[in-house]
Amino acid sequence: MAINWYPGHMHKAQKEIKEIMSDIDLIIEVLDARIPYSSENPMIASIRRDKPCIKLLNKSDLADEAITALWIEHFKSTKNTDAIAVNAKKTDAMQKLIKLCQELVPNKGSEGKPIRALIAGIPNVGKSTTINALAQRTIAKTGNEPAVTKSQQKINIGHNITLFDTPGMLWPKIENENSGYRLAVTGAIKETAFELDDIATYAGDYLLEAYPDVIQSRYEIEELAPNGYEFLEQVGKRRGCLRSGGRVEINKAAKILLTELREMVLGPISMETPEMCIAEQVEVDRI
Ligand code: GDP
Repeated sequence: MAINWYPGHMHKAQKEIKEIMSDIDLIIEVLDARIPYSSENPMIASIRRDKPCIKLLNKSDLADEAITALWIEHFKSTKNTDAIAVNAKKTDAMQKLIKLCQELVPNKGSEGKPIRALIAGIPNVGKSTTINALAQRTIAKTGNEPAVTKSQQKINIGHNITLFDTPGMLWPKIENENSGYRLAVTGAIKETAFELDDIATYAGDYLLEAYPDVIQSRYEIEELAPNGYEFLEQVGKRRGCLRSGGRVEINKAAKILLTELREMVLGPISMETPEMCIAEQVEVDRI
């Protein structure tokens, strides 16, 4: 998947969303539960103003439950915002979402006029899977191939709710370099300006800090290295990624770590906490 966010392309998506916003009662913002801050599209917050919004923390099966709970609490403390964690691959998860839509727009829905909900999300976050689960039929193509030019879609999902799919492709938090790394670590963006070794080193640094016990037991390391790069060397040694002369093939070790992290071999892992991201945002705003 090669994704480029061109200014023209971003401008078009912004214009189209602005145009339909006045017809919308509620926004369902699909986020990756492992990176709820980095997988937000920065434009949505400014366009929606006080319109009710549900932060749908999808892929919650891959995230750390305790940290997801912190994120839910964080989002719920924001005006007109609610949040739930789901695994969109399980259709029964959608009942909770439908109930929340009805609660947030109480004067529409079960009786009277239909609720008009806009669903938004950056590529690969699970927006199509969510749409299909809500509609209980295949409407949107899922997988790793984002459709770049897509016309506005209106979908009746029953329960007196009409879903509007966002046109165009939304971009993540590209202004924050840390977010770029975390999007790459989780596989949300596959082609990035970062080298694989750098992405894995970033992951290593974070895991050493946040999940030392998990990596210590997975890679059977007696004493963990003090930084991500040296930790990668330890992983490489454990897994026999060695060149002649005994030097570690860092690239191979990087691949092992990222694959095991993305495929849940290390168990559910969250890559960011509200506290971390609030501090980062202060830095981003300052620059
Ligand atoms: P979109 O680009 O936002 O429309 O993303 P898709 O719906 O195509 O999903 C991207 C990938 O994530 C697909 O391989 C889905 O099967 C997978 N996926 C979607 N939701 C979940 C979830 O809740 N848990 C897990 N583990 N995978 C999911």
